[in-house]
Amino acid sequence: MDVTPIKVRFLGSGDAFGSGGRFQACIHVRSPDSSVLLDCGASSLIAMRHFGVEPNDIDAILVSHLHGDHFGGIPFFILDGQFLSKRERPLLIAGPPGIKARVRQAQEALFAGSSQTEQKYEIHFLEWHDRQQAAIGGISAMPFEVVHASGAPPFALRLEIDGKTIAYSGDTEWTDTLVEVAREAELFICEANFYDKKIKFHLDYETLNVHRGELHCKRLVLTHMNAEMLARLPSLDAEAAEDGTEIVL
Ligand SMILES: [Zn+2]
Ligand SMILES: [Zn+2]
Repeated sequence: MDVTPIKVRFLGSGDAFGSGGRFQACIHVRSPDSSVLLDCGASSLIAMRHFGVEPNDIDAILVSHLHGDHFGGIPFFILDGQFLSKRERPLLIAGPPGIKARVRQAQEALFAGSSQTEQKYEIHFLEWHDRQQAAIGGISAMPFEVVHASGAPPFALRLEIDGKTIAYSGDTEWTDTLVEVAREAELFICEANFYDKKIKFHLDYETLNVHRGELHCKRLVLTHMNAEMLARLPSLDAEAAEDGTEIVL
């Protein structure tokens, strides 16, 4: 029997450099009982306003790795909750070991004193550990360590929500771990930063295609693409996200 739908909306499908005028990584995953952001890049609060997503509706922010295009929006999100959205309920921020310190440092760098301000709502931090399942509201999240230098271990994430699986590569070069991450997932969101250029710590479409047969996901959607990759998209046999793309599972 089919259960209530899960909605996955790309608020940001861009890379770190604003390629194609896209917002940085931010994916809104909603079920009847949960509402989370997968990554929160520096531009994410703008993207949320653009697409009409209320920050107060977000239960948790799940961060793949500690690069600014994946977690740099958190200081703005926290500040918005304090002063504009008047958040009252707790916010959970989950991410790589050290995420609390990195978020506090980012707050201080961007809005001096803001990490010391008495918060009107609680913020809880949770650290990912390789293959250790975490319960986040009604979501079961399994982090898998991948290959991407970012000052702390980087993770791909596999979320189970109401019997559906959403897998997300985060940023990484090819690693066989992605086969596990994507296995039988209803949706695998995978970075394809480059078309064929082999850059350490990132994936290119050509390499992903070589391994496509190993990825037993039901649907593969590309994200985090640079300008060359975006230009080539129309001629490729691949599904790719745009800002605003919504997928119903
Ligand atoms: Zn990165
Ligand atoms: Zn990135």
